[in-house]
Amino acid sequence: MDLIDLRSDTVTKPTPEMRAAMAKAEVGDDVYEDDPTVNKLQEMAAEMLGKEAALFVPSGTMGNLLALLAHCQRGEEVIVGDQSHIYLNEAGGMAALGGMQACPVKNRSDGTLALDDILASIRSEDVHHPITQLICLENTQNICGGVPLTAAYTRAVGELAHSNNLRLHVDGARIFNSAVAQNVSAKELAAPADSVMFCLSKGLCAPIGSMLAGTKTFIKRARHLRKMVGGGMRQAGIVAAAGIYSLENMIERLDEDHARARKLADGLRQVKGLVVDAGSPSTNMVYFNLADDVTLSAEQISLEMGKRGVIIGPENERRFRFVTHYWIDDAAVEKTVSAFNKIIQ
Ligand SMILES: *Cc1c(COP(=O)(O)O)cnc(C)c1O
Repeated sequence: MDLIDLRSDTVTKPTPEMRAAMAKAEVGDDVYEDDPTVNKLQEMAAEMLGKEAALFVPSGTMGNLLALLAHCQRGEEVIVGDQSHIYLNEAGGMAALGGMQACPVKNRSDGTLALDDILASIRSEDVHHPITQLICLENTQNICGGVPLTAAYTRAVGELAHSNNLRLHVDGARIFNSAVAQNVSAKELAAPADSVMFCLSKGLCAPIGSMLAGTKTFIKRARHLRKMVGGGMRQAGIVAAAGIYSLENMIERLDEDHARARKLADGLRQVKGLVVDAGSPSTNMVYFNLADDVTLSAEQISLEMGKRGVIIGPENERRFRFVTHYWIDDAAVEKTVSAFNKIIQ
């Protein structure tokens, strides 16, 4: 039985074509910057994001951490969304490894931070206060529904940051989902930011890896920090080859994942007992709750779905997030909706 795994787009296994590209990758020692495949991937990523340089890193978490470490000194403060991955899901790395303090600002339901809230969170010059150094945005904003942030909003935050002598980092783990959903280039979404991170290992299907992009000086510093945290890899071209395949072949098709997420949401809306979030999905994530009269818990439903070959992970006792991706086809969407109908009725 082919399993239908809707927990995340991180579950995407590499395609056969991607594995073939990996097998024939030319490699070298990337710590010496000798790996031609890694170098090519870094040039491609920098070009696509409109930045001077880029760095291949093992994970998105490391990419964000290196950005924070490169932008900030110990004791400095970072403005982050209170629903952001950096704040909630990176094991407190900024505090533990960078000695930085997070200044959480409320994420609104559209994924944005209100400009007034950001402004109010910037510390004044005072011997008692930490120094505000950096603002972080997340695009798409995962917990708010996989919602894309617009280029105009990002520009406004960039202007606010720069006019206050701060820098802007964009956690763009899914920036290509955002770009495709809005029919704009990733370059345009990244333009206002001093640094951007995106993941190859999510909807783009690569097995491992993320990219961090910014100025040459910033990337030089990030490369040094990458070595410090143990992220200097050797013949990394074998995995970088998958990343190149992703950038060349996996971006435009993200539209299909978005269309299937809409189809899945439409199907789930017909299931009595499920309440899909208004407006969901924006990209490849469908968020929904169990109605009050459903007596089964999300956990029990997950177990039942598992028996029918559909792997899901509840967000909490009453809430789910389903993520569509390369390995979810129309039949998988239909099978999921019909399994729900059987279990809940
Ligand atoms: C997945 C994700 C990350 C981190 O990526 P990993 O490769 O899992 O470490 C960072 N930010 C966001 C918004 C993500 O969804």
